[in-house]
Amino acid sequence: MENKYVDVLVVGSGVAGLYCALNLRQDLDVMVVSKDKIDCTNTSLAQGGISVARGLDDVPFFTEDTLKAGKYENDIHAVNVLTNESIENVDYLVSLGLDVDKDEDGNWDYTKEGAHCINRIIHTQDNTGENVEKTLVKNAFRRKNIRILEDTFLVDIIERNDKCIGAILLKNKEQINVFAKFVVLACGGIGGLYKNSTSQRILRGDGLAVALRHKIELKDINYIQIHPTAFYDESGDERRFLISESVRGEGGKLYNINGERFVDELQPRDVVSEAIFNEMKKTNTPYVYLDISFLNEEYLKNRFSTIYNKCLEKGTDITKEPIKVSPAQHYFMGGIKVDLSSETSMKNLYAVGETACTGIHGANRLASNSLLEGLVFSKRAAQNINESIDEFNLTKVDIDEIYTSREEIEEENGLIVVNAIKDKGGVIDD
Ligand SMILES: Cc1cc2nc3c(=O)[nH]c(=O)nc-3n(C[C@H](O)[C@H](O)[C@H](O)COP(=O)(O)OP(=O)(O)OC[C@H]3O[C@@H](n4cnc5c(N)ncnc54)[C@H](O)[C@@H]3O)c2cc1C
Repeated sequence: MENKYVDVLVVGSGVAGLYCALNLRQDLDVMVVSKDKIDCTNTSLAQGGISVARGLDDVPFFTEDTLKAGKYENDIHAVNVLTNESIENVDYLVSLGLDVDKDEDGNWDYTKEGAHCINRIIHTQDNTGENVEKTLVKNAFRRKNIRILEDTFLVDIIERNDKCIGAILLKNKEQINVFAKFVVLACGGIGGLYKNSTSQRILRGDGLAVALRHKIELKDINYIQIHPTAFYDESGDERRFLISESVRGEGGKLYNINGERFVDELQPRDVVSEAIFNEMKKTNTPYVYLDISFLNEEYLKNRFSTIYNKCLEKGTDITKEPIKVSPAQHYFMGGIKVDLSSETSMKNLYAVGETACTGIHGANRLASNSLLEGLVFSKRAAQNINESIDEFNLTKVDIDEIYTSREEIEEENGLIVVNAIKDKGGVIDD
């Protein structure tokens, strides 16, 4: 067992974790850990894009679209923060190197997705997330103050006197106790728990499990988003491949197996998913069709290159035939309850991204609002930490003296670690 000391420990290397790390002061010693390889995240899978207000005039409309999709169960203060701070954060991401598709005049090519009243989604073809991840990873590796540990598993946080003072990690079956002034949970969603999900299989709500164990407040955990259009695949347990909402945004039409239209494709996701489920039941068929083949072949191959290639690999040429689709778990609206600075109910512990619940999504997330939430609220977490860390008056030596009795940590957390090692196929010498 090893003890390490950092200023800030960030658990997760998706948009929320890495953007938080990049917005922390460069004089702080920051550690970022990921359960698998650094880019094995749902961020890397995002296809559609990032929503952003088209200018100050659009902020009220963007706010209204978000509230309407969320059935007005959203936290209005959080939504106002999201829409008002969307432009500065997207601009900063682009300044870090994100390549955004442009129209013929060289302006950003905003696309449309369900329940947005105008085109306000920026994208890089149909693999925006991969480009966001690459941009953030590149910048994080360049920063001297950010240490990155891959294949490192968060087992638990370390709590003393209702404060978070670090976390217990597992790497190569070895326990590492990381003592930190602040811990940021950016562990993503829960899709890996579902058989039918568009998520990376490794994402299984680990942050939430930690929160539950420490009685940290959660919010809206019954709100789970089902995406209407995942590629219908009879073959087993793999992650379901997403057919992005932007396919419908660009005119894609849904048909039942009898060739009949049955829903307005640009309704919010819950409405379209329900309509598809009804149609599947009515026709006694486990899928419906999504057709985009009427668009120009070259345009489709370029605009939806990822979807085109993946579908072709699975035997469907989207330029010539409709795609079989059915709904799948896609996103977790609930999570660890946080305030507008992303602080949880436990002192010195923050939560950002899909693990957190800021309340911006209400009962249903508006398309492409997740990457944006990851940017806006992880920056707020970083800003809060930047401002408050100097008041943190425990030195490393103090922490060492007060908290790091090896026996004490082992006694309190040993069982959890032992179980985690066993879960990962490790052998324990009792
Ligand atoms: C197929 C697909 C397409 C999507 N398309 C869009 C889109 O177009 N626009 C949009 O806005 N949103 C989209 N989303 C949603 C969006 O991608 C995610 O909600 C968002 O990327 C989550 O970011 P995150 O940083 O919170 O988590 P993630 O990017 O999922 O990263 C989670 C991180 O936590 C780490 N982690 C988890 N548990 C542990 C542990 N125990 N120990 C250590 N590390 C741990 C993982 O290793 C990983 O690094 C899409 C989602 C999917 C699945």
